[in-house]
Formats: sequence, structure tokens, C-alpha cells
Amino acid sequence: MTSTIGSTVLGYPRIGPNRELKRALEAYWASRSSEAELREVARQLRADTWRALDGAGLDSVPGNTFSFYDQVLDTAVTFGAVPPRYVDLGLNSLDTYFAMARGVESAPPLEMTKWFDTNYHYLVPEIGPGTRFSLADRTPVEQYREARELGVSTRPVVVGPLTFLLLSKPDADAPASFQPLDTLDELLDAYAELLRELRRAGAQWVQLDEPAFAADRSPAELEALRSTYRRLGDLDERPNLLVAGYFGDLGEALGVLASSPVEALAVDLVAGHSAVDTLPALRGLRDKTLVAGVVDGRNVWRTDLDAALSTAATLLGSAGEVAVSTSCSLLHVPYDVEAETRVDPQVKSWLAFAEQKVGEVVTLGRALRDGRDAVADELAAARAAVTNRAHADRVRNHRVRARLDGLRPEHARRPDYGKRRAAQAKTLRLPPLPTTTIGSFPQTGDVRRARAALRAGSIDEAAYNQRMREEIARVIRLQEQLGLDVLVHGEPERNDMVQYFAEHMEGFVATDNGWVQSYGSRCVRPPILFGDVWRPEAITSGWAAYAQHLTDKPVKGMLTGPVTILAWSFVRDDQPLAVTAKQVALAIRDEAHDLEAAGIRMVQVDEPALRELLPLRAVQHKRYLDWAVEAFRLATSGIADSTQVHTHLCYSEFGDVINAIVALDADVTSIEAARSRMEVLDDLNAVGFARGVGPGVYDIHSPRVPEPQEVADLLRAALEAVPAERLWVNPDCGLKTRGYAEIEAALTNMVAAAETVRPMA
Ligand code: GLN
Ligand code: ZN
Repeated sequence: MTSTIGSTVLGYPRIGPNRELKRALEAYWASRSSEAELREVARQLRADTWRALDGAGLDSVPGNTFSFYDQVLDTAVTFGAVPPRYVDLGLNSLDTYFAMARGVESAPPLEMTKWFDTNYHYLVPEIGPGTRFSLADRTPVEQYREARELGVSTRPVVVGPLTFLLLSKPDADAPASFQPLDTLDELLDAYAELLRELRRAGAQWVQLDEPAFAADRSPAELEALRSTYRRLGDLDERPNLLVAGYFGDLGEALGVLASSPVEALAVDLVAGHSAVDTLPALRGLRDKTLVAGVVDGRNVWRTDLDAALSTAATLLGSAGEVAVSTSCSLLHVPYDVEAETRVDPQVKSWLAFAEQKVGEVVTLGRALRDGRDAVADELAAARAAVTNRAHADRVRNHRVRARLDGLRPEHARRPDYGKRRAAQAKTLRLPPLPTTTIGSFPQTGDVRRARAALRAGSIDEAAYNQRMREEIARVIRLQEQLGLDVLVHGEPERNDMVQYFAEHMEGFVATDNGWVQSYGSRCVRPPILFGDVWRPEAITSGWAAYAQHLTDKPVKGMLTGPVTILAWSFVRDDQPLAVTAKQVALAIRDEAHDLEAAGIRMVQVDEPALRELLPLRAVQHKRYLDWAVEAFRLATSGIADSTQVHTHLCYSEFGDVINAIVALDADVTSIEAARSRMEVLDDLNAVGFARGVGPGVYDIHSPRVPEPQEVADLLRAALEAVPAERLWVNPDCGLKTRGYAEIEAALTNMVAAAETVRPMA
């Protein structure tokens, strides 16, 4: 069976160009609509996507890219890996699926975690020795048929068996020695069944995604890759197999797949550009199709088509066919640049979202097949845009560049901690076990309405600021009543901890409709960082100073760290991320200085995303952590010894970043430890961390109010590992998503617990 791939994309957004799926899901969950109505919205979205991709001229259209929630969850359901606690609910198939995703009263949801180094989150399948795989759900086959009826023969996309098992976790009943990979054999029987059915339905190609091999893998895992694709390749009734690896260079796995009996390999030549050098040596590729992922599937820039074409062209001799594609699924970018009305036209001309990227791939495919002349106009237009961006004045700011050039290591160093500690003890005069919060207080409907009214122009800036000041005053009064020792202004003026800063700095643009799925129905709209970053004027000090003048207690100023700002934005691809990080760090540093000048004695720089940007391969960790830590230190140095620097990290499984946490050199670090029972404190001790630490003492992610006794017990456990003069008492994250009734009760109990433990400490 021969058939070529030509031009394709590895996947497509599914939430809908106007977030139709989000609305339909939320209506269904709220019982405002029926299953039939939800399914109809889904069907329409699928049909629109297939028609659009086919109509745009892709030679091969991906199928099965739709999901009601998550593709990893879909894979679990397809192969019958539904844990008994959901089966026992006795719900219909759709509601069982949503129970796994969102939980119900009697059955908590599957754990959710980040999909590699993206901001998409998947649900973690639970696999045990008792899991019985089968082809339990035929959605991929049904959707193949559905597309066929519309005249589009798709290439169904399914998470590959190894990536599926490597991302799964052992279920609660599994013995300690069990690994999900132990079940591979049985799972492959179910995959074989799916492949057979797809073939019978008429599918020419199936795409199996194996991004897990862009990360470090053991010899046993590589061996499993070899045996898996030998086995699937040797099946006699199956479609052609395209194995897609993305988010980096597949390294050794590339050789394994090249010598396997699959028909095609898709490689990410953006995140894993180094593969360009190794691919020609892989003899096994000569009779395969190589799908060259030359259009960045994860970022929003228009592709340099000349460069992409020459990358693809250098590979021509290496493979039987060279096809062109996006580097990964387009799930990670918004739908359509044309939907943007607010983005400045020049910046807009540099952007490509999913729809535009499909056009780029089509152009590249035609250039490879028919020659450059066939698409001369498209190539010229792309060249003009790329050149315009490269030379645009607005991308560069000479003052920012000069400032960067003048940086010395000492700009990112604070004096010895001992000195700082003494200076801070003198000015701050805090009790042992000081109580505080992470920064945000509940964002009430009222606050959000005020923001919407400002945007709509129905109130002016002065009225809005007045509303925010009232909110701050209320939050300060409440904290005083609760008896907290270190107060915050509550962050009412911030729509989001990254977007807010992006909107107040030069070098960023915000979008109207640039939504990207984060998980389930949840979407985010990352700002686009296109140029040198600088701060035209002070952003936060006015709010913090207002809060401070209302109270004698110290108010912590709140800033978002440079790494987190990068992690939650689309970043420029024309300079190293480390350079962009320094620019953002300088802007944050200026904020810290302004806060200090406004009388603020504590500055918190949040870096919840520090771990998220960690490269998939260990060899790259050091380089990343070096610049990430340096950026944080640059942002937090140069202030008085007596100014206390705090940071907040949203997790407590530090793993490979634990030494970096020490290197941040913050005076106080608050972490999420409520759920891990303080064990993290021993880990921190083991690496010589000897600074203030606030291991969150209750879980703000749940509406449950902790009893004082529980919090006191946790504090006593923490005191086993940390001396009283270093221990802080705080919730484990910001309170923004909670309601006032809950947080008042919870903080009352937290303060009471600190008071009972304090005299004994
Ligand atoms: N200061 C922020 C808040 O409290 C921190 C949130 C975070 O790190 N995710 O909302
Ligand atoms: Zn947090």
C-alpha cells in the first residue's frame, strides 16, 4: 500500500474558534443543555475543522483530534483503562468520562499534570495489574467514518502506546514493584485491534504520537519502543503507520524508529533542530516518509519559509519521501490571527496562528513538489514579513540593550544572608512563626465587574481606581481583624499575574481572541512578547503604598518573576530566552526598587513556573537553571539588606530544581506543602537550604476549611525540620479563586494554630 503524506499538520485546536466547545461543555455540566446538544456542537466543530484543513489544501488531514476534554483521557477510555471507582458510578459513557476528568462527590478526578513542557494539562491514567485493556470505545473509528462521509479521508491521531503508559501512574492497589509499562503486551493487543478496525474502515494512515521520547529514556524503555513498533509494524491488517515524536530531538529513539517497520516518522525540527544533522545517517529512513516538522506548532510567529524550505530540502536524500508539517500539534496556538482587531497591524503581520500555519505548510508542500516558482508570491510575502520584523525599530530598545550590556555579576548578588537577616530582624520586628498569605484575596464578582466596566468604557480610570482602593482597604481591614502579621494588598487590580504585568510593559501585545486550551474547558490567552521589554512607569508601587499607609503592619509588595512571565507568554524566537529573561528581570527589578522607595519593606517575587520551563533532557537542565536563577536574582538584588525578599513556588516536588531553589537566595520561600505533609522540608535541609520557609499549611485548592488542630499539627511537624525563627505560616497558594466565607474561616484557624504553637516553639 503506497500513499504519500505530502503536507500535513500533526493536530489542530478543538475548543472552537470562538470557544464554542467551552460554552457547550459548561452548559452541559451546569445541566443547562442536553447530551444531544453538546454532541451536536462537537460534531459541527469537527466538520468545520476537517473541511477547513482539507479546503486549505493539506495533502493529509489529521483525524481524531477532537476531544471533549483531553486526548490522554480519550486514549485511556478507548482502551478500557477506566478505574473501577468510575465504572461503579453506573453513569453513561459521557458522564463516566467527565467523572474521570472532573470528579464527582464520591469519586475524585484523575490527577492532572502538565503535558511535557507546554501549558496544556492532561489527565494521568491510573494503570494497575488489574487493568484489562480492550478496544472498549471506538471513537477514533467512528470519527474516521464521520469525516469520510463529508468527503475527507483523515489520518486518525492516537497517543502512542509507550507515551500513554509512560505518562500513566500505577493505581492505588498496584504493588510497589509495578510499573504501567509492565502491561505493554496486553495494551498492544488492543492497539492492534484498533489498527485493524481503522484499516477496515478505509484509513490509509494512522498517526501514533510518541513525544515521551523527546525526554530522557532508559535502555529498557528504548527496547520497549523497538519491540512495540516491530510488533505493530508486523501486523498484517493495518494502515500505514506514522510515528510522531515532538517537543525536542528524539535522540536515540530516532534510530530505533528508523529501523522499525513503520512507514513514516514525524520529527520536530524546531525544538529538535539538531536532528537535521543525524537524520541523513539513518539508513532505515531511505524507504520511509520523513515528515519534517519545520513550522513551529507552539509559537505564534510567521515562519521563515525560505529557511524552512532549505531545511526540508537538505533532507531530501535521506528519506524515501520528505513531507512537511508543523513541529507538533497546533493545539498550543490560537485559531486565527485575522480575528485580532486590537493587535497593532505591524506586529500582526509577523504572526501566524493555527489557520495561518496550515497555509504555510501547504505552501511549503507545494514548493517541494512543484518547485519554488509555483509559490513565488507566497514565499515573497513571507520573506517580506520576516524581514520587516527583523528590522523593525519597535523590536529593539537601545537603552534596554545598553543596560543589559552594562550588567555585572554583582548586579545579581545580595550581601551575605546573615547580614540581611540581622537588618531585617531589626526593622521588621516579627514574632516567631509569622503569619501571612501568598498575595491574592478573592476576586469578587464586584471586582471583575468593575474591570469589565472599565474595558467597556462605562466607568473611567478614576472610578475604577477608586473601586480598587476600596477593595484594598477592605482587605487590609480584614487582615488586621484576623490578626495576620504580614499583610498584602490583595491584588484586586490584576486580571492575571502575568497578563497584568505584560499589559503594563513595552514589548508585549495582548490579543482579543488568542485563546489556547489549558485543560478541559479552561483556556488562557497568553500575551505575545515581541520586542525588548521595558517599563514606561511604575506599575505596582502606588497600590502597595496605598495599602501600607492604611496599616502599621508590614505590607508585602507582589511581583511576578521573570521566568513565570516568559513561561506564560508566547516568547520571541529571535534571541535566546536567557536574554529576554534578563530584560524582564530588569523591569521587575525596577518595580522592586520603586516598592522599596514607596516604603514597602518586603517584596515577593513569585516564580510558580520555575519548574515548568525545565528542559525535557537532563543535559540541558544546568544551562536553563543557571539563567533562570540569575534572572530571579537580578530582579531581587540591589535593594537594601533590610528589605526582605520573598518568593512563592506553587509546588513542593522539587526534584531536579531543588538546588536552584537554594540558589535563588530569597530570604523567605513559600511553597505548597499542605498535601505532602511537610516532607519537603527534610529535602530542603538535605541540600543546605537555611532561609525562611513557609510550607503552606492548608490546601487552598479545595473549599474545605482546616481545623486549627490540623494546622497546629502540621506546624509541629514542620518544627521538627525547621527552627522556629525560620518558619512562616501561610496558606499554600493565593486565595483568588476562593470565596470570602471560606477564607475568613480558614485564616482564622490558621492564625489560631500559629498562636497555640508559637509559645512552645
Ligand atoms: N501572588 C500570587 C497570588 O497570590 C501567586 C499565585 C501563584 O504563584 N500562582 O495569587
Ligand atoms: Zn501558588
